[in-house]
Amino acid sequence: MERVVLFGPPGVGKGTQGGRLAAALGVPAISTGDLFRAHVRDKTELGNRLSALIASGDYVPDSVTNTMLAERLAEPDVARGFLLDGYPRTADQVAELDRLLALAGTSLDAVVLLAAPDEVLEERLLKRAADQGRSDDTPEVIRHRLALYHRETAPLVALYDAADLVLRVDGTGTPDEVHERLLAVIGLRERTPSS
Ligand code: ADP
Repeated sequence: MERVVLFGPPGVGKGTQGGRLAAALGVPAISTGDLFRAHVRDKTELGNRLSALIASGDYVPDSVTNTMLAERLAEPDVARGFLLDGYPRTADQVAELDRLLALAGTSLDAVVLLAAPDEVLEERLLKRAADQGRSDDTPEVIRHRLALYHRETAPLVALYDAADLVLRVDGTGTPDEVHERLLAVIGLRERTPSS
C-alpha cells in the first residue's frame, strides 16, 4: 500500500490517524486542509484570498485546490507514495487525481473510509474548538461542514466502490483503537483472534 486516500467526514480523525498511518506506511501525509491553513497562517496571497472562505466552512474552488495538490504531488518525496487526507472532496477532484496518477503511470492502492455518527463528530469538533480555536470550528460552521460533506463528498465513495478500492473502518473509540483497526485493514498487522 503506497498510494492511499483517507476519506471521511470532518471530525472523524483524518488528521491524527492520517499522520500515524502515513508514518507506518513510510509515505508523506498530505492534508489539503493543512496546506490551506499554512497559506492562511503565512499570509500568502492565496491564504489572504481564501481565509474568509475557509472560515465559513465552504470548499475552496476546485481549480485552486487541484493546482495546489498537483504541485504537492510533483515534489520528490511523493515518488514512493502518499497518504491523502481531505482530498478529493468533489467529483472534479476525483477526476483530477485519476488524471495526475495516470500521467505518472500509477494509480490508487486503497481508499480508506473512516466513519462515525454525526453526533460523535459534532462532539469531537466542538471539543477541538475549545482546545484549539480553529476558525472553522464554531457550532454553525461545524454543522455546515458536516452537511457539505454528506451532500458533496460522501456520494463520491460510490465511484471508488465501483473500482473496488474502498476499505471501511470504524472511526469511533480511542485514537489507539482506531489506529489498530487501520493497521489491520491495511494489512500492516496480522489480525489476532481477540481483535
Ligand atoms: P475538515 O476537518 O473539515 O475535514 P480540513 O482541515 O480537511 O477540515 O479542511 C479545512 C478547510 O479547507 C475545508 O473546510 C475547506 O475550506 C478547505 N479544503 C480542504 N481540502 C479541500 C478540498 N479538497 N477541496 C476544497 N476545499 C478544501
